[in-house]
Amino acid sequence: MIKKQWKKNQNSEHIVGPCKWCQEELVNTQAFVAFVDKSKACIKCYRKSGHMLPFWDKENKFNE
Ligand SMILES: [Zn+2]
Repeated sequence: MIKKQWKKNQNSEHIVGPCKWCQEELVNTQAFVAFVDKSKACIKCYRKSGHMLPFWDKENKFNE
């Protein structure tokens, strides 16, 4: 039996999914937000949506 293997290029980018708002395909090398429901969004849309990034929020509090 021959195992089918996906090409694994560790340094190459791959598509993680479409942005839930603009439907733009997101790649792992760009900044994106993953939600608990497995949907994803680009940072641009996420910021436009008015949400705060939880980890950014934490960082900001760290600097206070
Ligand atoms: Zn987007």
